Parts: sequence; C-alpha cells; structure tokens
Amino acid sequence: MASEARTVRTAIIVSTNPATGEVLAELPCATPDDVRAAVTRAKAAQPQWQATTVHDRIAVLRKFQQLLSEHRNDVAQLICREAGKPTAEALATEVLVVLDAAQFCIANAYRFLRDQPLPHANLAMKTKRGKLVHEPYGVIGIVAPWNYPFSIPAIETLGALVTGNAVVLKPSELTPLVALELQRLLLAAGLHPDLMQVVVGEGPAGAALVESAIDKLMFTGSVATGKRVGEAAARRLLPVVLELGGKDPMLVLDDADVEVATSGALWAAFMNAGQTCLSLERCYVHRSLYEPFLAKCREKIARLRVGNGIDSEVEIGPMIHQRQLKIVEEQVNDAVQRGARLLAGGKRLAELGPNFYAPTLLGDVTHDMRVMQEETFGPVLPVAPFDSDEDAIRLANDSEFGLAASVWTSSRRRGEAMAARIKAGTVMLNDMISCFGIAEAPHGGFKQSGIGRIHGEMGLREMVQTKYVDVDLIPRIRKVWWFGYGKQYQQQMNGLIDLLFAGSWGKKLQGALRSAGLFRRSTRI
Ligand code: NAD
Repeated sequence: MASEARTVRTAIIVSTNPATGEVLAELPCATPDDVRAAVTRAKAAQPQWQATTVHDRIAVLRKFQQLLSEHRNDVAQLICREAGKPTAEALATEVLVVLDAAQFCIANAYRFLRDQPLPHANLAMKTKRGKLVHEPYGVIGIVAPWNYPFSIPAIETLGALVTGNAVVLKPSELTPLVALELQRLLLAAGLHPDLMQVVVGEGPAGAALVESAIDKLMFTGSVATGKRVGEAAARRLLPVVLELGGKDPMLVLDDADVEVATSGALWAAFMNAGQTCLSLERCYVHRSLYEPFLAKCREKIARLRVGNGIDSEVEIGPMIHQRQLKIVEEQVNDAVQRGARLLAGGKRLAELGPNFYAPTLLGDVTHDMRVMQEETFGPVLPVAPFDSDEDAIRLANDSEFGLAASVWTSSRRRGEAMAARIKAGTVMLNDMISCFGIAEAPHGGFKQSGIGRIHGEMGLREMVQTKYVDVDLIPRIRKVWWFGYGKQYQQQMNGLIDLLFAGSWGKKLQGALRSAGLFRRSTRI
C-alpha cells in the first residue's frame, strides 16, 4: 500500500506557490513513453512546417507576440505565483524580453535564412558557384530551469520555430504551468499542436528527452546536471547547447560612482531573490571605495521591500524552495564563521513564510570562502576589497565559471581594457544582467558556464545545420584534378601552386607558364 502511494506521488507534479505554499495544480508526470511519443509526433509534423514559407512562420510569431502583449499581466502574475518573483520583475525580465526576442526573430529571420553566396578565391575553383543553406535540425528538445521559466524556453522555442524546427519542451518540475502557458499562447497563435509540445516531469523525463530521437538539445540548468546531460548526449553524438551556472564578479574600480554602483550591486545581487544565472555573486571593490561602498549598500538594503511579489510594492520575493535556502544559509554561516562581517540580513524571514531569506550583505569575505567559490543562487552580496586593477582581474578570472562579469568605472577606455582581459561570455560596463534583455546579444558562458549561445544571430545559428551547396558551371567538362596522374601533371600542379602562392612575381610567372597546360589537359579516365 505504502509503495503504491509512493508510485502515485512520483507520478504527479505538484506546482506550488513558493510565497504562500498554495498548491496551484497537480499534473500527471510524463513517462519515458510519453516523451518518446511526443518526439515522434513532432518529427511527423516538422517537415510540413519546414516547407512553409518564412513569411507564414513569422505570421505565427507576430500573432504570439500580439497575444502575449495583450495577456502580459496574466502571464506575469502566473510567473509570480509559480516562481515567486515580483510581478513587475516578471514583466521586465520575462515578458518584455520575450516580446523583444520575438521581434528579433521577426525582423531577422528572412535575412538569416536566405541562402548565402560563398565566392571562391582560388583560381582553380572559379568555375564553381558555392552557397550556404541553413536547414532546421528537425526536432529541438529543450530542458529548462525554474528561475526564468518563461523567457528561457520561449527565446529558444521562438528561434527554433522560426527556423523551421519543431520543439519538445521539458520545463522544470517546479514551474510547469508557465511552460504550459507559453504553449497555450503559441497554439492560440495558430501553431500546430505537435510543433510545440510540453512534457511535464522531473529529471527522468528530461533524461528520456535526451535519449529520444530529438535532433538537438538546448539545456539550461546547473553544472552538475549539465555534465550528466552532456555525457548522455555525447554517447549518441547529439548536438547540445549547455547554458549552465555562473559566479559572476563585479569589479568596482577606484573611479566608479559609488552611488550608482551600490544601486546596481543590490539589484544584480537580489533581483529574483538572487536566483539568476547572471546574478552578482562576487563583488570586488577598490580599497579606496570599500568602506563607503559597504555603508551605502547597508543603508539601501534597509529600504528594500521583501514579501509576496503579487503585491506590486514588493521588490524581493521568496526563494524557490527550502533546499536552495539551506544552501544559501550554509554558505553565509560558513563565511561568518571564517571571519566575514555580517552587515545586513543573514537570517530567514519566517514571518513572511518558510522560503523567505533576508537580503544579506557580507563584508571582508575572502576569495577562498564557499560564498566566493560556489554558486550561491540566493539574495547574498559578498564584498571584498582589492588594491589594483591587476589584482581585480586575477580575482575575477580565478573561478571555474565564466558566464558574465561587470566592470564599474567612469572611464570607458579603462573598462574596455579590463573587459578584454576577463574570461567570460559577457562583460558589461556599469550594469549587470540586462544583457539578457538585449535580443541581439548572444548569451552563453566560457569555462564551466556552458557551451554554445542563445539569443541573437548566434542563437538562431544554433537552430540550423549549415549545408554547403556547390554548383559546377561547366558540367560537360571533366575536372583537371581527376585521374590521369603522371609526371607532366605533377609539374603542372607545382606550377599552379607557384602561380597561386609563390613569394615573388617572377616565380608566379614561371608557375603560370608551367601550369598553362593544366587547363587544356584531358583526363585519362
Ligand atoms: P537543474 O540542473 O536542477 O535542472 C534543470 C533542468 O534539468 C530541470 O528541468 C530538471 O528537471 C532537468 N533535469 C534534471 N536531471 C536531468 C537529467 N538527468 N537529464 C535531463 N534533464 C534533467 O537546474 P535548476 O535548479 O532548474 O536551475 C538552476 C541552475 O540553472 C543554476 O545553476 C543556474 O545558474 C542555471 N541557469 C543557467 C542559465 C544560463 O543561461 N546559463 C539560465 C538560468 C539558469
């Protein structure tokens, strides 16, 4: 009886509001067979979608964009209820970002998908015309996290669809309703149901998707899961994009504006309760600004409003669940025990609910503390001083992650010089995180932060296989490089190589004379 109850429990996904504990829905969990069946349906529907014109595919995106714009507040509220972030933030960092990503696809799909002529420089290949043709993979599998439950799968889905793919999405088990809302909007926009399917489930459903007949996988999640997914994909040479964790540093140089930098730091560390891959996770401040910086942060933190994000005055919502909160607690306790100064927060806000953690400011952290090494993924701002730009670069780069970084300075030239030396997929000057809201900007990491890119043209490129098509302009003539080798041919080839690549004009001329017969040569076979 007990094992039956367990079976029933694991077969149901319970969507819960992290702010209130309210159960929002109970959904059946997809079995591996359900996942495979979804991919089979997607495979069957995709060729017809690929055969439709770009114009028709764009029309679906336009309609989706219009519907999302009309229902923006409902979508934002759903994101708030299921993922905990404030509704206003859901509007800015999810809905707006998706509307803009749709616009990018609408504006650029024609140009991107157009065949691209590929002129040949080599004289011997002048009788051919080459072009690049971008073809959809077929079925794109998407495995998504809970922290941006709408924007991440939506950006990937729109890019996949406009380039002619079908999509099977496995959302996080914590945020299935948001994914189903994305699907609902796309179907309402006229998309065939088999072209965008959602399989609700936990890790095993994601693993089943990786093992299914999908043609490419877009995975976003933790480094640990990303490695497991990467291994499974490698066994069958499935192409993957891995968007993984980060430990993004902020470098506040001695000429930075402390007022601006502290406001930026608080937003980047605490928005979405610090549960953003691009969150500020390590803050390094030049020693000359260090104490004023900490004092300003402390003063501003006291003014932040924490609570249920459905209240439009709230700025910081709950964390997603207790497990994540415990990780944050452990890292903060470890830092304090090892000598960090706790300047704000550092405690649960039980009066608001079990998932609330106070925005926390730590001073005097050292580079070796867990809070400076491991992804924290919570509302914690650890700050350490540095003495020189050299020192700051060394600290920024001394991490296994390389998602993004920021440099705060009043000198653009100095900031750009620092940016050139930081090993990260994105470096922003005087801002953080908002790069994800720039539809043209590629998003992805160096080092353990991932492989591949989403967003912008590089994101579209991940959705297509590029085929080279070559047309011979003199089809009735046998090619000079075909069989019929011999001494004369070897001399002519040497002549051609001299003609093309010799260092002096004299040698080139000699090469031209020696190779002249090559193009009159009739092949033996
Ligand atoms: P997670 O790795 O726990 O889960 C991500 C997804 O993978 C979920 O849908 C989960 O069900 C699924 N999954 C779990 N095991 C699987 C398996 N064996 N095979 C296939 N799928 C499996 O991550 P999370 O807690 O949902 O998200 C937080 C993490 O995501 C953080 O580390 C964060 O930095 C990262 N993240 C990265 C980006 C980025 O763009 N680089 C964006 C958002 C989040």
